[in-house]
Amino acid sequence: MTQVTEADYHAAKKSKNPKVRQEFLDAIDLEDAGEFVRRINYEIDDDANTSMDCGFNYDVMYNYSRILSPIKPLRKSIIRVFPIAFKNYSYEFFLSVLIDHEGHHARQDFQRPIYSAKLTNQRSSTHTKPELRDYLETLQEIPAEWNQLEKATKRNLSQKERSNTVSKINSYRGLVSSYAAVFGRDWKLDLSKILCNSPYDDTLREVYGIN
Ligand SMILES: [Zn+2]
Repeated sequence: MTQVTEADYHAAKKSKNPKVRQEFLDAIDLEDAGEFVRRINYEIDDDANTSMDCGFNYDVMYNYSRILSPIKPLRKSIIRVFPIAFKNYSYEFFLSVLIDHEGHHARQDFQRPIYSAKLTNQRSSTHTKPELRDYLETLQEIPAEWNQLEKATKRNLSQKERSNTVSKINSYRGLVSSYAAVFGRDWKLDLSKILCNSPYDDTLREVYGIN
């Protein structure tokens, strides 16, 4: 599959027509994330404060909440793309967020379904402390940002886009280590549970000293 071009992205940006944008999304080659993603949906939600998200695998959550039925892994995620994704991004960064970041979350859901199910249950539970929820969510962001950084050269990201990604990783890392101290958790151990079979997660294991 050939990748969409910068001109295609700018045409979809300019058009604002949801059909045109959906057709553009359908034409994207998700590369190594393709096997973990069922589809990409364009959603007109102007209140969305994010450009994209990776829809959780509800079948897994359903099964997790009913321990009697076995967890069904190997389910693909749905990535939702909101209008913000067609506002300020460069073409390169758009692909980086879609394929390397959200695609990595899809990989996490696919390869680490139990952790993802737990996270979603805790997210929706009123009993979970918001700080603990933040902690778990932030942990999941570190490998996704890392993946973007590892592929920055391939994507031809600008210096600014790269340094923003580095700053995000550093602030997430600071956040998880301070939450971990409060909750008495070992953040590297928690992180190890969501790392996937991916060469980029391997470099993260190496750099953070995770076995
Ligand atoms: Zn993310």
